[in-house]
Amino acid sequence: MGKVIYLRWREGRRMDKREIEKIAEKIREEYSINEFPVDPARIAARLAIPVKEVTFKLYNDDSVSGGIIKEKNSVKIYVNKIDSMNRKRFTIAHELGHYFLKHLENKGEYVDMHREALYTNDSNEIDANEFAACLLMQSDMVINKFKVLKSVGFSQDYIIFKLSEIFIVSQAAMKNRLRNLKLI
Ligand SMILES: [Zn+2]
Repeated sequence: MGKVIYLRWREGRRMDKREIEKIAEKIREEYSINEFPVDPARIAARLAIPVKEVTFKLYNDDSVSGGIIKEKNSVKIYVNKIDSMNRKRFTIAHELGHYFLKHLENKGEYVDMHREALYTNDSNEIDANEFAACLLMQSDMVINKFKVLKSVGFSQDYIIFKLSEIFIVSQAAMKNRLRNLKLI
């Protein structure tokens, strides 16, 4: 018998998606009342978590989009300064996901070097992406605006483009959100 190799995603436990949605809802209410589109950098500012724009020289490429680093009691978020605004917003929201989903708790140090915004097998990464999507693309608003645009007769591609502009996210992130909300 060969050795059984477990894929990494089996090691961690994913959180319930509805639970993540609820946490994101609570954070939005607590930190960005009446603010639309949600600005994750302002949420970080209210938590006194500095967001620094940097170049990830160590990795020698532009595939690292950001990270959150905890050393003792200080937490800092880093974003790749050459990324687009959409991507930076998603990255900050993703890193806040690690913070609010308590991935940093009970750890003296935590280093997340976030590479791909949407595709990963790691359970914490998937949950942080889910949190980012929920935070930036509030379900009720997405559903309402999607239905309005659809009723006018716009194509699916145009609706994705339009919604991505309204919520200031990438089209890929919006498409993913619409799929998760079973709208497409
Ligand atoms: Zn991450």
